[in-house]
Amino acid sequence: MKHSQPQSGLFIDGAWCPAGSTFQSVAPHDQRTVADVANATIADTQNAIAAAHRAFSTWSQTSYAERAGLLLRAADIWEARKADYVALQHKECGSTLAKAYYEAANVSEIFRTAAAMCYAPTGHILPSKLGKHSTAVRVPIGPITVISPWNFSGILTARGFAFALAAGNTIVLKPSEETPITGGVFFAEVMQAAGTPEGVFNLITCDRNGVAQIGDLLVNDPRIAGVSFTGSTNVGRQIASRCGHMLKKCCLELGGKDNLIIRQDADMDRALNAATFGAFFHQGQICMSVERILVHVSLYQEFLAKFKERTAKITYGDPTVATNAIGPLINAQQVRRIQAQLDDAIAKGATLETGGTTEGNYFAPTILTGVTREMEIYGDETFGPVVPVLKFSDDAQAVELANDTAFGLSAGIISADEEAALAVAAQLKTGMCHINDSSVNDEPHVPFGGSKDSGVGRHGGQWSMETFTETRWITCERGGRQYPPGF
Ligand code: NAD
Repeated sequence: MKHSQPQSGLFIDGAWCPAGSTFQSVAPHDQRTVADVANATIADTQNAIAAAHRAFSTWSQTSYAERAGLLLRAADIWEARKADYVALQHKECGSTLAKAYYEAANVSEIFRTAAAMCYAPTGHILPSKLGKHSTAVRVPIGPITVISPWNFSGILTARGFAFALAAGNTIVLKPSEETPITGGVFFAEVMQAAGTPEGVFNLITCDRNGVAQIGDLLVNDPRIAGVSFTGSTNVGRQIASRCGHMLKKCCLELGGKDNLIIRQDADMDRALNAATFGAFFHQGQICMSVERILVHVSLYQEFLAKFKERTAKITYGDPTVATNAIGPLINAQQVRRIQAQLDDAIAKGATLETGGTTEGNYFAPTILTGVTREMEIYGDETFGPVVPVLKFSDDAQAVELANDTAFGLSAGIISADEEAALAVAAQLKTGMCHINDSSVNDEPHVPFGGSKDSGVGRHGGQWSMETFTETRWITCERGGRQYPPGF
């Protein structure tokens, strides 16, 4: 299948529906229009919810083989269109070659992992003191709203809906207004080509002005049974409070302020690799990016000198040029936000070790030292290529510094002593932790998610299946039950 122009409508009830108006998806590299995208109205959104609601009764009853088959066909179609997706990732997300290929390869793997989950056990047989046949069975919950962010528009969209579909739920997807093609339209094209039954997968795209209203509807409508949200803590908190009020299930994957701890016995090359990749891959626009590097005082000077040297050599520019390791930030607003955080740190006494310059949407990889608690960058998520390096004198201080954040997504520990590193890992209040690696790690079948302000719930493999199902207790009485006298 050759990709020409992306579809320009909304995908509702198995068909592309024209929208009354459109908005533009804009390339962060040169601000050219990537495509005109449908701008959904309230009525369009209600139609998508109604379609997902209608389709649920049938889709939830389909056989596991049928659901797996759909996801496997989607994986094959995705792989055949990988080159198209990579080209769109360059344009719409400013993704470098490595990031674009990583996303393209990972999405089909997510589809295959979700297909495999269709063959997994769906419950338990429980002991019963009354001799009953007592079972705990997992059942799909209903239409699910999936709201995804712009930074990894492929993986985070796929992860949000593929497992939910595999479990027998139906979907209304709303991608970010920054990446409506790579996080939305492309997926709808693939799901349509894979033969998704009408109403099982629906796509709503809208511009920034419509997000709050459309988002409210997608969370509040009583026909929506659950929400999968990946994005900022601020928006996640609002969605969670509405879901809480309505007693709906929601899974929230939110922001991070992840630490890389470099112990006194760390291998220097491992530490440098984990730090440069972790802090600067995809311009630091990753929820689990390394946002603070904590170095044992005995290695601090050597690490800082080598880290500065490595960072100054990182090439950045046009993401389609294979030698560029860093592309543009998603938009000018992000450049301004990160610049303000950097200015605040420098005004309060931090030292700029390297970087600090911007050009258009490009932000040079930047290292700071002398960062203190009073500076915004110490506690707030940066979500860009600026990283502070701090010192610690023993494991207890490293743990204290690492836990001194409202977030708790991931962490990395570099150490030759696995036992000591595991002891540190056990004390970190994060959903994920990686020894001798950076905090940036993801695989489709692992429990991905955060603690504290980084979220609630888990995505990935069997944990997604728990997220997108509810467990029912179903028993069969076989004559062992004695009721009290008088009944
Ligand atoms: P965002 O919260 O601004 O937007 C995320 C999604 O929510 C988008 O689709 C957006 O359109 C939608 N949205 C915005 N306002 C809404 C509202 N009122 N109601 C409903 N939906 C609304 O986040 P972003 O800028 O797209 O993404 C960056 C953030 O996401 C960072 O904080 C990052 O750490 C986080 N993130 C977390 C993970 C994770 O797995 N933990 C992964 C990637 C990104």
